[in-house]
Amino acid sequence: MSEVTEAPEAAPDAPRTFADMNLDPAVKQALDEMGYEVPMEVQHTIYDRAMAGTDLMVQSRTGSGKTAAFGIPLAQLVPAGAVGLQALILAPTRELAIQVSQELQRICMYRNIQVVPIYGGAPMGKQIAALKAGAQIAVGTPGRVLDHIRRRTMLPATLRLLVLDECDEMLSMGFQEEIEAILKELPTQRQTLLLSATIPEEIERIGRRYMREPEKVILSADFVGVHEIDHYYYLVSGVGRARDLLSIFEVERPDSAIVFCNTRDDTGLVAEVLQKHGHDAEAISSDLTQPDRERVMGKMRSGQLKFLVATDIAARGIDISNLPFVVNYTFPESPEVYIHRTGRTGRAGKSGVAVSLIGPREIGSFYYLKLLYKIKPVERELPTEAELKARREGARFDELRQRVTGEPTEEWVALARRVWQSVEGERLMAALIQQFFGEKPAEPAPRERSRPEAHRAPRPRREGRPERREPREAREPRERRERPAEPREGREPRPQADADAGGPREFWETWIDEKAVRSDPPDKDKDRERGAAREERPRRAEEPREEAGFVRLYVNVGKREGLDAEDVKKLALDAAPDAADALGRVVVLGSHSYLSVKEEVAAALAAAMTGRKVGEREILVEKARR
Ligand code: AMP
Repeated sequence: MSEVTEAPEAAPDAPRTFADMNLDPAVKQALDEMGYEVPMEVQHTIYDRAMAGTDLMVQSRTGSGKTAAFGIPLAQLVPAGAVGLQALILAPTRELAIQVSQELQRICMYRNIQVVPIYGGAPMGKQIAALKAGAQIAVGTPGRVLDHIRRRTMLPATLRLLVLDECDEMLSMGFQEEIEAILKELPTQRQTLLLSATIPEEIERIGRRYMREPEKVILSADFVGVHEIDHYYYLVSGVGRARDLLSIFEVERPDSAIVFCNTRDDTGLVAEVLQKHGHDAEAISSDLTQPDRERVMGKMRSGQLKFLVATDIAARGIDISNLPFVVNYTFPESPEVYIHRTGRTGRAGKSGVAVSLIGPREIGSFYYLKLLYKIKPVERELPTEAELKARREGARFDELRQRVTGEPTEEWVALARRVWQSVEGERLMAALIQQFFGEKPAEPAPRERSRPEAHRAPRPRREGRPERREPREAREPRERRERPAEPREGREPRPQADADAGGPREFWETWIDEKAVRSDPPDKDKDRERGAAREERPRRAEEPREEAGFVRLYVNVGKREGLDAEDVKKLALDAAPDAADALGRVVVLGSHSYLSVKEEVAAALAAAMTGRKVGEREILVEKARR
């Protein structure tokens, strides 16, 4: 039994390059070929002590380079061509055992050292043959290793080095008994390296009991890893948690993530909800067969799958690096589990984000975590429905602009103008966009044609339209559109009933006009001055004849936009300052106006005015039809 002594953090004179470390040239060459140019912190920090034969208890998380940290000394401490097993590495899962043995094989590739992986679920025969053939290093899971020792197919008498990798994981998976049984079978004269992301009391106990005066190496100030990650949390009611997760995804917009749940039932539900809402998600449970787990993990690694939903048990041994985002859908009871979960992001110096949903019952565990590991997660508020809507709208608008490229021809531009200026514009545009995004707009409700009031009552204001009109200044014409519409001369009159307003009149236009006339007594002076008294009353069948040489232009703005005759004239002059002498009578009605102009400038003036704006409304000017 021995005391655990704490080693300082990386010594000030610690080597910073592999060249400083005086590596065996065979190992150095292997590292060069692996592309390892600079040692990671844990690698240079423990190197000298490991080479000196000291027992070490290293607090180091997955992804920090710890495999090579023990692999590099191991490759040099094990004599090449030695007879009998020299080193044993215990790892919690089959995946990790395979991964570690592969990395060791690469590090040892220029030394005459054989590495064999030993794990359950694979035939014993091949493993026995490899051990018999004289493998010097075995990397295995505790259950299968103990099996081999008990069957005497693994003979540990020659062993001089033991590595306990991810020791806390092995304990939380219930391997304590097997580990202790193995430890009792190993020679006491050996070096032991223990690596663990957390060092709870059970590990300290193993250190005291089975290690020789181990030195504890803690790599970063409080905890390796957690401080390289951005931790956020959302307080949730606990009811409708899956919906809250969807909202969080809308705000955080992770490219890919692993979502941790405390129960298997939750993983199924979360994956289903995510899929239903268009996310590319799959649940991984411990029920899955190994090939299925491999398949899902392979998809995740290659980027074919964006979201993996898992319990802690199912996620063990999953080797997915570069994960940018980890979610605690339900908060773990033990702080160590939090560290493990979030340790899957922010690996190898990359930044990572850990987001937790904290319900009322999880607050206790959350505070304990903060206290124990001095993590300061930042609170974020769940977005409101309105915020989500605004974000969704913004994102769709961006997507629309990115995906819809190319210049439509003038014919389509003209149609577009017509669509958005029609009273149906909003509906048509919305339905088109909805279809563009792959959604089918709802079927319209059947129209109540027979109700006569329907033609008299104003249509209810559409949602989102401003109740009040903009102040006059804001309604002044704004910037000119680049491509004004060609004036629509020479067209056949449309077959529809109302022909003088450039298109079939909507019932509400008539209603607005009538209302405007009823509520606006004619300005007698102006009427006299312009001789237009009768035109203030829209008796279309009795329109006065146009002065000789003048034609009437239909302008799609009127009193509804707060305009009077002077304003309409100003619109015309802003568009065509030279046209002052060509302007004649102006008649402003509720939803539109008529502007008499000299025939020879009509087409050009219509073109110049079209596309300019009054407030948010784009102006359309065309020759009025009888
Ligand atoms: P590990 O913590 O052993 O799982 O290592 C995490 C990742 O870092 C693995 O992909 C290693 O291949 C990589 N790695 C380890 N050491 C180095 C190094 N010195 N230089 C570059 N990459 C490394």
